[in-house]
Amino acid sequence: MNPLIKLENVSYKYPDTDDFENNFALNDFSLDVNEGEFVALLGHNGSGKSTAAKLINMILTADSGKIYIDGKNIVDEKITENDIYEVRKNVGMVFQNPDNQIVATVVEEDVAFGPENLGIQPKEIRRRVDEALDIVGMREYVRHAPHRLSGGQKQRIAIAGIIAMKPRCIIFDESTAMLDPLGRKEVMNTILHLNKEEKITIILITHYMNEAVLADKVVVMKNGSKYLEGTPNEVFSKPEKLWEAGLEVPQSVELIHALNKELNLEIPLGVYDFDTCAELIKEKIGNK
Ligand code: ADP
Ligand code: MG
Repeated sequence: MNPLIKLENVSYKYPDTDDFENNFALNDFSLDVNEGEFVALLGHNGSGKSTAAKLINMILTADSGKIYIDGKNIVDEKITENDIYEVRKNVGMVFQNPDNQIVATVVEEDVAFGPENLGIQPKEIRRRVDEALDIVGMREYVRHAPHRLSGGQKQRIAIAGIIAMKPRCIIFDESTAMLDPLGRKEVMNTILHLNKEEKITIILITHYMNEAVLADKVVVMKNGSKYLEGTPNEVFSKPEKLWEAGLEVPQSVELIHALNKELNLEIPLGVYDFDTCAELIKEKIGNK
């Protein structure tokens, strides 16, 4: 099966940047995202995550390389307005700041905005708005004013607006970064639901390692290129490499790494819950 999204040796330089070789925002970057997959995209500020997202969503156009969306290469001079429409319909994006994504004064109008732009019939729009609000757990707020909601609720409204367009993939570009812990949890639960129950492919750009460990695949970027790729366990079992790229590691990895070093315990590094951590430590040092 072809990946739903495939980037092949993609490079991109912003037009207004100097002509130095190291000024590529994206440098020979490749990425496969399969249908139904949940991919976490990590990397230090400026590593190229948002640029990759904007190239996939056709907000930007790559200088070189290929980007296949459902088998069609979108880095092609012959691309039409209709191709762009199809890509935007299939790949939705949720951004960082919930306030910048609210377009209407009533929740239901806000959620209806996307499908209206797609030319969907009013009756079908109403059905989709209700369904989308159910999925994000915000149905009771259908007639509320979005600006009076909490940050997490606003993000869920923004997500509902994307779901109402029935995309196959949603890219979340640090969509939890401006939220408090409760809002972050609400949005992460919604993202997991979209992936597991609604079978929507997810690309999650995040700085939170406890979010990244929930993904099927973790891709770490550095200076516009791919730096590490694997399951959360594979990637987070190399804490030195992550620290080198200016990233954190999950708490269980940091704890076991420190214990191994201090006490020569040789516990395999991995993403564990705290009970498993405790068990592994107990096995090594006994019941003291
Ligand atoms: P990330 O999302 O990982 O923080 P970005 O994709 O936003 O990284 O940025 C990648 C590189 O491109 C950085 O060096 C950044 O400074 C540069 N960049 C991003 N946006 C612009 C822009 N609009 N104009 C010029 N350079 C940009
Ligand atoms: Mg970014």
